[in-house]
Amino acid sequence: MKAVEITYRYEARDTPARPRPLDSDAALTRLGDGNRDFASLLDSLKDDNNLATRVVQVDPRDLGLLSGETGVPKQRPFAAILGCSDARVPIELVFNEGPNDLFVIRVAGNGLGTEVLGSLKYAVEHLGASLKLIVVLGHSGCGALATAVDVFLNPGDYLALASEHSLRNILDRLLVIIHASARRLMEFFGPDVALRPGYRQALIEASIVTNAALAAYSIQQQFGASDQAKLRVAHGVYLLETRVVWTPVFGKTKGAGLVAPPDDPTGFRELGDAIVQSERIASLINSEPPLQP
Ligand SMILES: [Zn+2]
Repeated sequence: MKAVEITYRYEARDTPARPRPLDSDAALTRLGDGNRDFASLLDSLKDDNNLATRVVQVDPRDLGLLSGETGVPKQRPFAAILGCSDARVPIELVFNEGPNDLFVIRVAGNGLGTEVLGSLKYAVEHLGASLKLIVVLGHSGCGALATAVDVFLNPGDYLALASEHSLRNILDRLLVIIHASARRLMEFFGPDVALRPGYRQALIEASIVTNAALAAYSIQQQFGASDQAKLRVAHGVYLLETRVVWTPVFGKTKGAGLVAPPDDPTGFRELGDAIVQSERIASLINSEPPLQP
């Protein structure tokens, strides 16, 4: 039988098994390495009797478990992560992290609502000593973006949401992103792109990238100029199909992991180019749509 074991190992030792990243570069590297580790976990399951194991070292102090110490552990995450509520994207797990490592905010569509911004503000102002990085993590197949794309493609569907203020609150701010993504796909693939079999799927996936990038840009604008001068922001998309975090990057057909958001209109145009030129979006445009259940 194939089996996967992920162990959280709490070991009493004088120095933590995994020291906290000291700056944003180190935090970014740690999350990138952690995701690669997690994504490759299943790769070693070659035959039916294989066992894939992974150990996540946890400092017992982060759960108040070290003998001789009293009181509750001090909160000291090295990164704040805004992700989607989607149950298939457990944030700590996909980055190979444990308790007290990440300050996680999850909301459908990983959008920047008032409570999300307030939570980030709290993290920046109160956890600044340990916090080195803020990440916005979208994910492939996001239901929030898919719903918004369907409303964009069939505007009549919006009427059914007339009394659904809470849903419209999420969808409304996504529509401008979808509009921009649709325009970019049309510029690159031609005016008949909407007739291609995988257009809807490609529009959803392109919009997921831009949605995360725009949220990261907004956070950078709001918090990047604060006293936490060393605090950086990054974004990426967790791919359910490969478990890898991916971001299209200009000039790299396969893209990269977590990257810094664009910081001006030129940067967003380059991101738009990177999205439409990526292997992933191009292959989606020409693929058949998945069968409806
Ligand atoms: Zn989602």
